[in-house]
Amino acid sequence: MNISEIKNLLLNYTDEDRVFEYEPMDLHTSFRCGGAADLYVTPGSLGELMNVLDLVRSQGVPFLVLGNGSNVLFKDEGYHGVVIQIGEGLNRVRIEGQTIFAEPGVSLAKLSKMAAAEGLSGLEFACGIPGSLGGAVFMNAGAYGGEMKDVLLSVASVNHLGMMKDRKAEDCGLGYRRSVYMDNGETILGVKLFLKPGLRSEIEETMRDYNQRRNSKQPVHLPSAGSFFKRPEGHFAGKLIEDAGLKGLQVGGAQVSPMHAGFLVNNGGATAGDVIDLMRVVQETVADKFGVYLEPEVRIVGE
Ligand SMILES: Cc1cc2nc3c(=O)[nH]c(=O)nc-3n(C[C@H](O)[C@H](O)[C@H](O)COP(=O)(O)OP(=O)(O)OC[C@H]3O[C@@H](n4cnc5c(N)ncnc54)[C@H](O)[C@@H]3O)c2cc1C
Repeated sequence: MNISEIKNLLLNYTDEDRVFEYEPMDLHTSFRCGGAADLYVTPGSLGELMNVLDLVRSQGVPFLVLGNGSNVLFKDEGYHGVVIQIGEGLNRVRIEGQTIFAEPGVSLAKLSKMAAAEGLSGLEFACGIPGSLGGAVFMNAGAYGGEMKDVLLSVASVNHLGMMKDRKAEDCGLGYRRSVYMDNGETILGVKLFLKPGLRSEIEETMRDYNQRRNSKQPVHLPSAGSFFKRPEGHFAGKLIEDAGLKGLQVGGAQVSPMHAGFLVNNGGATAGDVIDLMRVVQETVADKFGVYLEPEVRIVGE
């Protein structure tokens, strides 16, 4: 089945303004580079998402679920299949006491503000992470000593056979920037969090402090995917890269940030190939000098 035929089938389930052919992924990722997806669809509700997933599964079409695109690098050759973006169409949130029920498309920034407004503490760490809730669970995102694992109660997902799963947090395989969803290919559909009661003014003050620290230490003014590499056991990636003399190194439009060596940034016009070439130079140099392998935290996808 060709792209136009799949597109026509998708249009049975969602509106025309939610399905795009040959959509450039630089428009939908924080790195602002990479090729096009054959098809890009942004379901408007949970029902639409389930139908879209059923369709791609039954047709055997490769698909990739995208949240806010803040930890993904699409290769320049693009993605041959359907990118399903979970965003504003699935961002409903309900708060009951200390429990939050949320759809995966809600942004962490919005969710942490909502929690603060309800006098709920625990999501302060997430206020400046530019991802969606689904992406944050997938990555077990964390900052300033907190991580999703600390606040998660359970996760609802659907597997490759269309079967629904409901996992308690302890069964989600959460570790440093990892979860069971990286291995099982399930799509996260709903998240339950449990927070502590707190004082709104104190929660908001902590969030302001975290955002100030982030803005003064990280190159948030340039496109990137945040820290490019995972923290290797016993080291800090940024320090190893800086000590290897690589701060500021540029390949094409991609650069090791002069502000924070753990960030690879798009300094203007970078291709995904530039970023990948720079990543390799950094990995090889750090391995040669210090014998440490730097594993990318960023998910590199595409052909
Ligand atoms: C400036 C900047 C600062 C950052 N700071 C931090 C930080 O402090 N801490 C931190 O941990 N991260 C940080 N990040 C990285 C990123 O924001 C997080 O990893 C975030 O959780 C990714 O969420 P996302 O919605 O953007 O996911 P995406 O980038 O869209 O996707 C990431 C992965 O999750 C999968 N995925 C997304 N949604 C779902 C779903 N519903 N079901 C199944 N799989 C899904 C995707 O397939 C992909 O493999 C930063 C990024 C930037 C650009």
